[in-house]
Amino acid sequence: MSKHHIKPREQRRIMDYAMKVLGTLGENKWRVLLMVEPSDDDAYGSVNIAPEKYVVELYLAENWHELSNETRRNTITHEMLHVVHKRVDHVVYDLDPLLRHDEQTDLRTKYQREIELMVDHFATFMSDTHSLTEEWDEAWARAAKSGKETR
Ligand SMILES: [Zn+2]
Repeated sequence: MSKHHIKPREQRRIMDYAMKVLGTLGENKWRVLLMVEPSDDDAYGSVNIAPEKYVVELYLAENWHELSNETRRNTITHEMLHVVHKRVDHVVYDLDPLLRHDEQTDLRTKYQREIELMVDHFATFMSDTHSLTEEWDEAWARAAKSGKETR
C-alpha cells in the first residue's frame, strides 16, 4: 500500500467530520473515500462525485498538514457542499449538444465560478449556524480514541 500524505488520525477526523457535514445536509446515503492521490496544486481539495453509487472521492492538497486548522475545516465543509448541487451540473452539461464549443466553455466557466461562490457562501453560513468549529475539534478527539481501539 502506498503511503497516504495525510496522517492516520487526521484521516479519521476528516472522514468523521465529512460525514457530520453530509448528515447535517440530510445527505445520509453517501460514502466518502479519502483518496491517496493529492488534489491539484492550485486547490486545497476537490471531489469526484458518483451520484449513481453515492460515492464521493475526496482529494486533498499535498501540503494538507501545512494549512491552518480553519482552512482545513473549511475545505472539507466546502467539498461536501459540492455533493448537494451535483445534479444541477448535469443540467448544464446536458446543454453541450445545443452549444458551440466556445459557448460550452463560456457557460461552464461562468457556472463553475458561481457554484464556487455559492458553496463558499453556504460553508460560511453553516459554520456559524452548526457549530462546525466545535464539530471539527470533537472529530479530532474521537479520532484519537478510535485510533487507540484499532491498534
Ligand atoms: Zn469548490
